[in-house]
Amino acid sequence: MSHWLPVLVHTPAHAALGPVLTYRSEHLLPAGTLVRVPLGNRETLGVVWDAATAEATGEFDPAKVRDIAGVLEGIPPLSRAWQQLLGFTAAYYQRSAGEVALAALPPQLRELNPEQMARRLKRKKVDAGAGGAVLAAPALTPEQATAIAQIDAHPGPYLLFGATGSGKTEVYLHCVHKLLAADPDAQALVMVPEINLTPQLEERFKARFAPLYGEQAVVSLHSGMTNPQRLKSWLSAHGGAARIVLGTRMAVFASLPKLRLIVVDEEHDPSYKSGEGARYSARDLAVYRGKLEGAKVILGSATPSLESWHHSRPAEEGGRYLRLHMPSRVGESSKLPLVRRVDMNHQPRRAIFSTPLIAAIKERVARGEQVMVFLNRRGYAPVLTCEDCGWKSECPHCSAFRVFHKIDRTLRCHHCGFTERVPRACPDCGNVDIAPFGRGTEQLEEHLAELLVDVRRHGSVTPENPDGEHVRIARIDADSTKLKGQLEEQLAAVHAGDVDVLVGTQMIAKGHDFRRITLVAAVNPDGALFSSDFRAPERLFSLLMQAAGRAGRDATLGAQSEVWLQTFQPEHGLYAALKKHDYPAFAAQQLKEREQANMPPFSAQALVRAEAKTQEAAQAFLNAARTFAQTEMAAWDGWAEALEQVFLYPAVPMAIQRVANIERAQMLIECPSRTTLQQFLTAWQSVLHATRSQPECKGLIRWAIDVDPLAI
Ligand code: ADP
Ligand code: ZN
Ligand code: ZN
Repeated sequence: MSHWLPVLVHTPAHAALGPVLTYRSEHLLPAGTLVRVPLGNRETLGVVWDAATAEATGEFDPAKVRDIAGVLEGIPPLSRAWQQLLGFTAAYYQRSAGEVALAALPPQLRELNPEQMARRLKRKKVDAGAGGAVLAAPALTPEQATAIAQIDAHPGPYLLFGATGSGKTEVYLHCVHKLLAADPDAQALVMVPEINLTPQLEERFKARFAPLYGEQAVVSLHSGMTNPQRLKSWLSAHGGAARIVLGTRMAVFASLPKLRLIVVDEEHDPSYKSGEGARYSARDLAVYRGKLEGAKVILGSATPSLESWHHSRPAEEGGRYLRLHMPSRVGESSKLPLVRRVDMNHQPRRAIFSTPLIAAIKERVARGEQVMVFLNRRGYAPVLTCEDCGWKSECPHCSAFRVFHKIDRTLRCHHCGFTERVPRACPDCGNVDIAPFGRGTEQLEEHLAELLVDVRRHGSVTPENPDGEHVRIARIDADSTKLKGQLEEQLAAVHAGDVDVLVGTQMIAKGHDFRRITLVAAVNPDGALFSSDFRAPERLFSLLMQAAGRAGRDATLGAQSEVWLQTFQPEHGLYAALKKHDYPAFAAQQLKEREQANMPPFSAQALVRAEAKTQEAAQAFLNAARTFAQTEMAAWDGWAEALEQVFLYPAVPMAIQRVANIERAQMLIECPSRTTLQQFLTAWQSVLHATRSQPECKGLIRWAIDVDPLAI
């Protein structure tokens, strides 16, 4: 006897096929079973889908239904919760379930043939068993003990609001430990923003749990792994051998049949939001998944996202998360750093470093301490100009300037990658005096080398070198870390103390535990105060707080660590709150502004981005779909009321309007209710599809919906 099976596959985006196709199978297979099925003239991976949750499959012709090609033997079906998570993700973020689910599975499930797969599964498990020294956990601080007691007593989700160095990681370790000890099957998922930046965390988890549960108990899942590594981790989590999965945002989709605890560390970090395909937020999905699977969810941060902060207001006021507060750093002498503002209005014009900051840097390095200087702009200068005729180093393919990189004397477009050698003279008027304008990290590095040329490091005086050694400067940014392993190498050099002054972009401000850094300087942070992106102040505040958290972790140095801000707006509320390390004050002020302006978290947003050969076509497409929503759709049955709540702004060019000769436009959609917005978007998708073929949209290349966009 044969059975009809609904199977979820990744059908091409614009194929007329739905993502759930019907196949024939000799055996009735449970939903969640991984199968190989024919699709067109190839064979592809599919997941037997629960017919009840399947999207409408449409009519099918029984005569044309094909047989499944095979079952992935030895792999138990994916759980119902996993299917629901993927179904929800696809529906909420407006993508096809096939695309989302198949992208969430390790690529090798698709690539390996049955024999290879069987070999992979048979591979002997190296059972390390318990072994090695069991690391004693430190006695909890009173703040940690209180937080843990609350986690035990309440169902959550929790927002663990703890200063950098307050021992949040220790709380995660403790909760995971207790869970695994109490339930021999239980699994925990621990997410971090960027695994490369937090090798210390991975080591801490391995050191704590490998001796107890074997080397296999802790596995990683992130995009820096090879496909075989990913498959191995995935299988071990899916089979239950892995008790802890440590990963980046992609790990939120890991198959964990006994998931009981989810930790999202640095929950405010923008890298939890995917920038392509389904633009999901792994933090938001973690909360959803926790509810779905009955797993506790801990979100942790010293500077929570304003969304999470708002959700953790008192329950009486409508809060849904329980806020746990750990304000103190562990260890009495590692005090929070002193924040100093330098008023750049009183400094020489165009000064890169103010006089007092230079003096402070010199003093620190001479004493053998480390300094971190950051500026959010790589390259030497953001633009090259000719003062005679006004020529600027524009990119011919983008509406942006090409950045001057002095190291290899190139002009590079940071948007499309177009690179040329710096011209000898102005291409327009021949003036040989073309000059860099503004500054980037390369220039800071060069400038610091000049400033510190006479400084000698204390303690480096030897009989052979009676003057002591020069100051060592290193730069870490996207340019200096392009090759695999470079970032790790450079970070290791900083940790080892082989660097005295570290210059870099925001890359260096996040997550690292640079214990010997006692001075952190933000050279020019003001830009974010005036950005058109309403989230810019939030990001700046958290970046500066994180940077401040880097400073002065090593109590043995005994020096008062400092954070210096060079600003033309010393009285700005953001800096005032920062000076007091007062995130709640900053958040309260920001939330008030957001509430008045009806912005998230007080409303829900979605962004539709369109790319076309001309700006007119991109905007025409968006505006036509908008008009349709406001007129035709409003006349659809039952839609009038919902549409009154959905506000569609007119299409506008994106901040960088043209990239690689493609014109880009966007349309913002706002709605007080997330649910209504989701319903609207789902219905509106077909309108967007239909609008595409209108004559004024000729030249449209692609469009995509971004639900809960982070950058506007
Ligand atoms: P966070 O994650 O909040 O930045 P960590 O958990 O990394 O903080 O803790 C900061 C430092 O304090 C780490 O070196 C950690 O080992 C140490 N630490 C944390 N909790 C304790 C404790 N209860 N007793 C002693 N040291 C602790
Ligand atoms: Zn010129
Ligand atoms: Zn370009």
